[in-house]
Amino acid sequence: MTNTILIIGAGIAGLSAAQRLAEANLPVLVLDKGKGMGGRMATRRVGEAVFDHGAQFFSAKTPDFQHFVGKAAELGIAREWWPGIADTRHPRWVGTNGMNAVTKFLGETQSVHQGKKVIQIQAISGGWRVSTDDHEPLEGAALLITIPAPQALDLLENSGFHLPENPLRQIAYHPCLALMATLDRPSSIPSPGGLQTNGAVVSWLADNYQKGISKVPSVTIHASPDFSRKHLDGDLQEAGKLMLDAVQVFINPAEVLEWHIHPWRYSLAYERHPAPFFEAETAAPLLFGGDGFGIGNVEGAYLSGLAMAEQLIGNSKR
Ligand SMILES: Cc1cc2nc3c(=O)[nH]c(=O)nc-3n(C[C@H](O)[C@H](O)[C@H](O)COP(=O)(O)OP(=O)(O)OC[C@H]3O[C@@H](n4cnc5c(N)ncnc54)[C@H](O)[C@@H]3O)c2cc1C
Repeated sequence: MTNTILIIGAGIAGLSAAQRLAEANLPVLVLDKGKGMGGRMATRRVGEAVFDHGAQFFSAKTPDFQHFVGKAAELGIAREWWPGIADTRHPRWVGTNGMNAVTKFLGETQSVHQGKKVIQIQAISGGWRVSTDDHEPLEGAALLITIPAPQALDLLENSGFHLPENPLRQIAYHPCLALMATLDRPSSIPSPGGLQTNGAVVSWLADNYQKGISKVPSVTIHASPDFSRKHLDGDLQEAGKLMLDAVQVFINPAEVLEWHIHPWRYSLAYERHPAPFFEAETAAPLLFGGDGFGIGNVEGAYLSGLAMAEQLIGNSKR
């Protein structure tokens, strides 16, 4: 049996685990169904316009994450967007060229196989076998699952795998409709280009031009959790029009040249497992982590990955 550690998910949790394990000289293989790395730290280009359409910024309140963000900042990959002010004493950080660049930096030296959706897992002697949708079975001595909890539950069910104690069921996420609009001139969103509206339709707007990631004026608009839940499986074009109407005052006098909408079924985890990961009672290690564990968000997902890696490194020394 190979001693490779398999990680499902190349979001920030899977990549932070991979990086820490590689530092400890443990062989790692990360599998992701997407075309790129980063998961919900997503940046999209439409013509000349660039959009952060998933995570908008991140905090760095804990020493481990501050260390990582500090290194990324030294290399010009991350930067402070919003200084700490009265209500948020901690600055808000962003990827200098988009959020996705931060995860690319984390994953650049890792072995990441993209376009591989894991559809089944199976316990085998001394480890795990995972099957992907391109029918390539892969084996590893340990398995880390860092995908959103509802997707992990589906994976377990498809695999006919039952866990007697399963905290994944308690983890819950808000959906979020993310609208990306290219404008003919700058928006009226006040400096530094982010606005929490907490409205019934729209909860957040960001100006990617002011943020410095887009060469042409472009805005990202996030629908509120209630609105997103109501329209997630409905007519997205209709939902998009309602979202644009709701924020017209922050777009005027600019005209929208084109717009696209991305429905995130899982955005922020509002119910989480309190510990940074969950280890199942299985013969070979099986750990679950990601932003549904611990403090949540980008920072919590990073720390979850790190904690899973430390657990395996501790096991390997025993
Ligand atoms: C619209 C939106 C706004 C947000 N705003 C903020 C914010 O401002 N600040 C903040 O801190 N956080 C924010 N978040 C949350 C933040 O993005 C997440 O907490 C964090 O990125 C989660 O990282 P992760 O590694 O746990 O999961 P993910 O980033 O979801 O990574 C999981 C990966 O697993 C892959 N995957 C899933 N299923 C499979 C499978 N079967 N096989 C293989 N691969 C699979 C996915 O492709 C994905 O790449 C936001 C999220 C969204 C969507």
